[in-house]
Amino acid sequence: MTLGNLFADLDEDMSSYKPKLPEKQDDYLTSQAKFVANYKCSACNGTGVWQKTYYYSSFGPKTYKNKCFKCQGKGGFKTSPEDRAKAKKARVAKKEKMEKENFKFFNDAHPEELEYIVMTKFKIDDPTNSYKDFLQSLMDTIYKYGELSEKQLAAVQKGMAKAKEWEAKKNKPKARIDLTPIREKLAKGKEKLKKPVIRAGDTFKFTFAPETGKNAGYVYVRHHDQYIGKVAENGDFFPYQATPEQITYLKEFAKDPIKELKTYGRNTGNCGLCGRGLSVKESVKRGYGPICADNYGLPYNHTKEAK
Ligand SMILES: [Zn+2]
Ligand SMILES: [Zn+2]
Repeated sequence: MTLGNLFADLDEDMSSYKPKLPEKQDDYLTSQAKFVANYKCSACNGTGVWQKTYYYSSFGPKTYKNKCFKCQGKGGFKTSPEDRAKAKKARVAKKEKMEKENFKFFNDAHPEELEYIVMTKFKIDDPTNSYKDFLQSLMDTIYKYGELSEKQLAAVQKGMAKAKEWEAKKNKPKARIDLTPIREKLAKGKEKLKKPVIRAGDTFKFTFAPETGKNAGYVYVRHHDQYIGKVAENGDFFPYQATPEQITYLKEFAKDPIKELKTYGRNTGNCGLCGRGLSVKESVKRGYGPICADNYGLPYNHTKEAK
């Protein structure tokens, strides 16, 4: 079969193409007869027919006709374009008002569920995530009806329970590290300094969490300047991407931070408390200088310092 054959009877098909009209021709004619168009439709120039001509290289121009979408095939409108724009605006405003009311209605009845839906949807970054689509469909339903079906609500509550479980798991301490010695030194330093810091061992760094924040009372732990967790007053350690090696090491040297200050001083040549370079022999030996010794209540032989 050649290409010519393929299109041979197409001409006829096209000329017999008719605009799509309502199935019941009678109804359509009746409504046509009743309808008085005060304003001509600009899209179809009052014909009620949409038409477009395409040019085909094989058989030339072809014109397609259909019912005009803008005027629904009526050729015109009863009202002026200005009035129609006004009416459309009013429809949109009414819809917005209804959506707002529905949202509030649902929020009054299920504030926790709504918060879960909104926040979870917000937190999912991946736009192709199907759970995000599901949550969006719930939002659409809430806007439209002000409520969810029992099944939908149950699905939301199941998601909430799962999230809670996960949160509890995340917030369980992973280890116990007795930081009392470090905590005591930090507290001592706090008497004279705004932000006491202890650097020790293989560049571990300890600071108090801000007193006004939600972690007040915790000691923050950093390793090579990376935050690896916080230790509560009772010794509960909440790691953040801490390796098992880091935890083991932390536990070990928390027992004797003064010894670990020495290690830090030897490794870096700097005071583990203020970070300044150590020059005096006694300071190098201990890993901290005389001023810091006083500030943090650490042993220091001041007579040796003079020599
Ligand atoms: Zn039209
Ligand atoms: Zn110092």
